[in-house]
Amino acid sequence: MDVDVIVVGAGPTGLMLAAELGLAGVSAVVVERLAARGGQSKALGLQPRTAEVLELRGLLGPLLDRAVQLVPGGHFAGLRLDFGAWDTPHPHMVGVPQARVEALLEARAAELGVRVLRGHELTALAQDDDGVTATAGPVRLRGRHLVGCDGGRSAVRELLGIPFPGLDGRLRMAVADITLTGPAPTSWSLPVMTPSAAGKGYLAPLGDGVHRFLFYGPEQQDLPRDAPVTPEEVSRALAVSFGPGVRLTGIRWASRFTDASRQVTRYRHGRVLLAGDAAHIHSPMGGQGLNLGLQDAFNLGWKLAAEVGGRAADGLLDTYHAERHPVAARVLANTRAQAVLLVPDEENLALRGIIEELLRVPEANKVVAGMISGLDIRYPLPGEPHPLLGRPLPGLELRDGRAVLLTATNRLRAAAAPWSARVNHTPTTRDLGAEAVLVRPDGYVCWTGSDAGSLTGALSRWVGRP
Ligand SMILES: Cc1cc2nc3c(=O)[nH]c(=O)nc-3n(C[C@H](O)[C@H](O)[C@H](O)COP(=O)(O)OP(=O)(O)OC[C@H]3O[C@@H](n4cnc5c(N)ncnc54)[C@H](O)[C@@H]3O)c2cc1C
Repeated sequence: MDVDVIVVGAGPTGLMLAAELGLAGVSAVVVERLAARGGQSKALGLQPRTAEVLELRGLLGPLLDRAVQLVPGGHFAGLRLDFGAWDTPHPHMVGVPQARVEALLEARAAELGVRVLRGHELTALAQDDDGVTATAGPVRLRGRHLVGCDGGRSAVRELLGIPFPGLDGRLRMAVADITLTGPAPTSWSLPVMTPSAAGKGYLAPLGDGVHRFLFYGPEQQDLPRDAPVTPEEVSRALAVSFGPGVRLTGIRWASRFTDASRQVTRYRHGRVLLAGDAAHIHSPMGGQGLNLGLQDAFNLGWKLAAEVGGRAADGLLDTYHAERHPVAARVLANTRAQAVLLVPDEENLALRGIIEELLRVPEANKVVAGMISGLDIRYPLPGEPHPLLGRPLPGLELRDGRAVLLTATNRLRAAAAPWSARVNHTPTTRDLGAEAVLVRPDGYVCWTGSDAGSLTGALSRWVGRP
């Protein structure tokens, strides 16, 4: 089978990429090892910046319909963060299980003509000057590019011998989706995970009588990663955190994870690219991994579409690594810091107390909230310095000639096909401090100004050959 792009892995990253490629009219196929979607969710939430990104493609509304809850604010190692200081229409976490995000993205990709071949495990991979050849299950595929979205134990990475440098985990934690009796929380709260030598747990309702239980304590530190999470272990951890009144009645799904953190040094290897957990792993503290993967895919999709369509300017595809590698490196750093703050020894607790005090200062809280939510992302784009350059176009209303009000978001959604970059000379309800802006298909401002010469340069860099 010949396609433009082979996507390996139908997790959230691969499916988001599939939807973006489908939107751009690229012929793509997703190969997935699992025969059917599992229905389990590692991640439970979307950060504000991801909500903004999904809104650009009209995907946020359906996810809000499937959300369990909007959680006001976020957290850093269990310390409260307030997103309200940032200019965003979504100053909250969207509490929606990962499986529902995947189902929506898969449906969108299918609508746009991208097929997911389930039960097709990638086992072989070779690239040459013209393309990539891959074996997945019984089929042999030929693509012009291949993107490894196949998770933390990526076969793409393994098959190409791409190193995955970083740190082994030090803190071992467990997660279990359980049913229970007793006075359990009926709504989500921020995980108050003040470390305790006896252990700590966080409980949140997922609906249909199921609760998510995240826990760690001395017992988990001594268990190997592949040891099954037993009912006895879960019951002991529930008792430590919630007392004897909360009792386990069943386990639907359980797993172990650590705070291991690793990142590839290059996201592009010739015609093969890596995205999501295949490119970076870290502890789930703060709820960032799924968000990173979705935004990797969002950054990559339109660039790859331009490349296979023969329109891309030289170097456009390499901006994927240049823009996204530093974003994930920053997440690795913040999750490493959070892991330290969760270790219950005297020195760490003293440090935690100081960080807690600092986070009561609004300016400090804003900095960390921007880091965790993705709202502080600014890509280092070339051009005349301007506060908007490299930043997402802020929410604003544009008045067209007939004084019809449209949000900037609606305009991008309507024009979400590739190369929808457009210059808006339209009066806005807010002063952007620029006569005109050029916005990339991923919603980032890539040029501001009024000078036709510099606009021509920006158009050829970002829009390429028409
Ligand atoms: C306990 C826990 C809680 C978390 N909570 C959050 C949270 O609240 N917020 C957040 O943002 N993130 C969270 N995360 C992280 C998040 O779940 C991951 O970052 C996310 O799943 C990464 O998506 P992905 O698509 O890159 O990889 P994956 O979800 O791992 O998907 C990879 C896919 O590739 C497939 N695959 C693997 N090998 C092959 C092969 N050889 N051939 C074909 N297919 C293959 C797999 O079957 C899988 O479907 C959490 C993680 C854990 C462990």
